Amino acid sequence: MLLSVNLVIEGSDGSFGLWTRAIIPRGTPLVRFEGVTEATPHRHSLQIGIDRHINVEGQPDALINHACEPSCRIDFDTVTLVAARDLMAHEELTFNYLTCEWEFANPFRCMCASSGCFGFIRGYRYLTDSERARIADTTAPFLKQLTAQIREEGIR
Ligand SMILES: [Zn+2]
Repeated sequence: MLLSVNLVIEGSDGSFGLWTRAIIPRGTPLVRFEGVTEATPHRHSLQIGIDRHINVEGQPDALINHACEPSCRIDFDTVTLVAARDLMAHEELTFNYLTCEWEFANPFRCMCASSGCFGFIRGYRYLTDSERARIADTTAPFLKQLTAQIREEGIR
């Protein structure tokens, strides 16, 4: 559900995204992710807890693209996309999918071309410690919790 009137859906060739149409200050809530919660991930789900995935298929929420150096982040207390910095008019809303997805149902090759690109996006579980450290500020608490649990159990 879009929380700001200053957003617009734009795109072509089956590739759509959400864009700003005005200046938006850092910290502004922009999209609240809503949908049925399911136990397994799929192409249009957002992970919100261990074994909890919101199905956002068919909603504008599903149009927010991944970026390795994104314009937005997720507030996991409210399951809301917020501006990670001051946004200009006509900027695409993006977040780093690796901050909330343990393992993707549909891994993909990132084409963001940023210097810090994570490359093949498979899920948080596949990141190195240094890659995890780079996104620690915006990573979902449940991914950190899961990582700690697995370390304790000595599985990896
Ligand atoms: Zn990238």
